[in-house]
Amino acid sequence: MKFADLHLHTHFSDGTFSPEELAGHGQRLGFAAMALTDHDSVEGCARMADACGAAGIELITGTELTAEHSDIELHLLGYFVDTQNEKLLADLARFQTVRQDRIREMAARLKGLNVPLEAETVFALANCKSPGRPHVARALVKAGLCKSLDEAFERYLKKNRPAWVPKAKMSALEGIELIHQAGGLAVMAHPGLNRTDDVILALVEAGLDGIECFHTKHSTAMSGRYLELAGKFHLLVTGGSDCHGFSKGKPLIGTVKLPYEHVEKLKQAAAARHSSLVTGH
Ligand code: AMP
Ligand code: ZN
Ligand code: FE
Ligand code: FE
Repeated sequence: MKFADLHLHTHFSDGTFSPEELAGHGQRLGFAAMALTDHDSVEGCARMADACGAAGIELITGTELTAEHSDIELHLLGYFVDTQNEKLLADLARFQTVRQDRIREMAARLKGLNVPLEAETVFALANCKSPGRPHVARALVKAGLCKSLDEAFERYLKKNRPAWVPKAKMSALEGIELIHQAGGLAVMAHPGLNRTDDVILALVEAGLDGIECFHTKHSTAMSGRYLELAGKFHLLVTGGSDCHGFSKGKPLIGTVKLPYEHVEKLKQAAAARHSSLVTGH
């Protein structure tokens, strides 16, 4: 039986593994296919492609976008995107700037709380263009200002906590279109973690291609419910661990094993999208 993990992060966003380390774990666990889905970045895809190639693993290029619809935050996975697509790269660069500005604002709020953490310290630790709250949490722990990552989130960084800063997001419809014009498939990530049930239909109407039914934080019942929805709306089924390396405790790779038949269907849909982009139909 062949399996895939289609939701993975490296240090090109808020994961701790390099592409080579991630591919090594994939090989050790026997994955046939993996997808790299760093937040607002496709930068790690080239190295991941080489590392997976050397490990005999099929790589699906990807990214994870933060979007919203009707004031509900949701994450969109873009699979098979052309990592050289100009509009995709321009928009990702814009959202990377939003992330960097947000870190500066979080550092300013922390300073106001007498928690002396410089934005530059976070940037140095993150060492990537897509910094996020996990980097702030790690920097707080490293500086001895918090005892644990959990404490950092609980005291300062969680939504509505004093150093939390809302993130400017693209609309979900914009995100779907961005992924499509880059030749990719748009998949709703971990629907069970966001209040997304009310917005799925609108996104399906906007061209959503799939839904991440299997995720580390989905219960069996939840996965079953999203499989049903996938059937009802003719959506592709995906799944992944959302492994961030050691960023959130133990590495999660290996906790979700998506049967390879779903990868076959994704590949067929991506090929169909690609030929329609080329011919304009
Ligand atoms: P950001 O993109 O900056 O909003 O950060 C989102 C990341 O922070 C995601 O990878 C989340 O899983 C992670 N995150 C959110 N809340 C927590 C929490 N309470 N503890 C640890 N990580 C969290
Ligand atoms: Zn993340
Ligand atoms: Fe996510
Ligand atoms: Fe993720």
